[in-house]
Amino acid sequence: MLFEQYINTVDQVAEQACAISDALWDHTELAYEEFAAVEMITKLLEEHGFTITRNIAGIPTAFTATYGSGKPAIGVQAEYDGLDGISQEGFCPERKERPGVTKGHGCGHNLFAGGSVAAVLAIQSYIKEKGQGSVTLFGCPAEEGGAGKVYMARAGVYHDVDAVVSWHPEKMYMVRTRPSLANICVNFSFEGIAAHAGGAPHKGRSALDACELMNVGVQFLREHMDLTSRVHYAFLDVGGTAPNLVQPHATVQYLIRAVDSESVRELYERVHRIAQGAALMTDTTMTCDFHSAYSNLITIPTLQATANEAMHDIPLPVPTEEDLAFAAEIQKTMKLTAAEKAMPPYALKVLDPAPPVAHGGSTDTADVSWNVPTVQLHIGNWVVGTPGHSWQSCSQCRAPYAKRSMLYAGKAVAGTAIRLMEDPALLAQARKEFEAQTPGGYICPIPDDVLPPPLRK
Ligand SMILES: [Zn+2]
Ligand SMILES: [Zn+2]
Repeated sequence: MLFEQYINTVDQVAEQACAISDALWDHTELAYEEFAAVEMITKLLEEHGFTITRNIAGIPTAFTATYGSGKPAIGVQAEYDGLDGISQEGFCPERKERPGVTKGHGCGHNLFAGGSVAAVLAIQSYIKEKGQGSVTLFGCPAEEGGAGKVYMARAGVYHDVDAVVSWHPEKMYMVRTRPSLANICVNFSFEGIAAHAGGAPHKGRSALDACELMNVGVQFLREHMDLTSRVHYAFLDVGGTAPNLVQPHATVQYLIRAVDSESVRELYERVHRIAQGAALMTDTTMTCDFHSAYSNLITIPTLQATANEAMHDIPLPVPTEEDLAFAAEIQKTMKLTAAEKAMPPYALKVLDPAPPVAHGGSTDTADVSWNVPTVQLHIGNWVVGTPGHSWQSCSQCRAPYAKRSMLYAGKAVAGTAIRLMEDPALLAQARKEFEAQTPGGYICPIPDDVLPPPLRK
């Protein structure tokens, strides 16, 4: 294993990394409220000689932790927010809520934090030995729909590093090659006039009708938009629950996705015109409030090749009898495809990077990728077939195998970073590939006057 002496630092700090992961899982915090997580991570890194900068972009739970100085400068990311509405006992193969708990780590950000802390400590051991270079852990709040990294990117926090090496929990071990979609999320609110639905319907103007007509309009729009684009909606306010009232207010949230920021903007404008049309048809008034926006992900072949090499070089965790027995039980609760049924329950090898195919999701790491050459590693923390954001993934985020694969993630991130620091030509090539794909530079998709949620009154 290349750079074994540094990468094995992960084993020396395994106990602390696992303690972070378990503590974050046990006490799940939601977007922009990750105070205990940030306290625990920054305390450990401060003890190891990292310099902590808090309140990045004015966000109380965004931070950077840097060791060393100057170039080469590598960034690593940590996420730590959980999900509301997922309550599940850890390392439990059946559906079982935690009494009195409503939140959970269904996306594995507890592992993300622990693994990334281990990674930066391993990279630190390399910097100490070489006497040059720096590593920064970007502490990124609110990945779950809160656009934390977009505000951090807008504040210019990624400009001082040469590359960002990131990862995310998954069911397989593979460098991410697929791009992500840009998105815009907005709330359309309609105001009408309340009236007795039976006694004086002619005096009422229904905001709920406006939402319904808007949804019908968007349904017809779907036939006439790009195949890779997507439009989703959720009612945030239906006015009320009484059918004998003309609903005077209603709000529908729209999440609009397209291949890049320009395309998503165009699609948003069409959706906006449909909302105006719905207001016109129902004699109501419409206001549109911005919620969040993400860019599309830029991928860098040289970084992918380097990460792929590092991932293949580091031994994967071997499932124990206990892991396999757990996997067999929890897989019984999932709908597995025929292909998944034919696979071993835990991924046993690193897959070669797949040709990039369109992906329907979005990530705020995309905005990082518009600021600095970025690569993401997918790590097989969960058994094959596990849906993200599910009770099954939440249960597994506290399982022994997930922790061992989290430590593998730490090693793979460190192995990638050290390869890049050793060979300036790789970073130069990555920069070239980055510049070729971002000729106009980064335009933050969130308007300048929209503050991060914790700073809004
Ligand atoms: Zn998630
Ligand atoms: Zn996630």
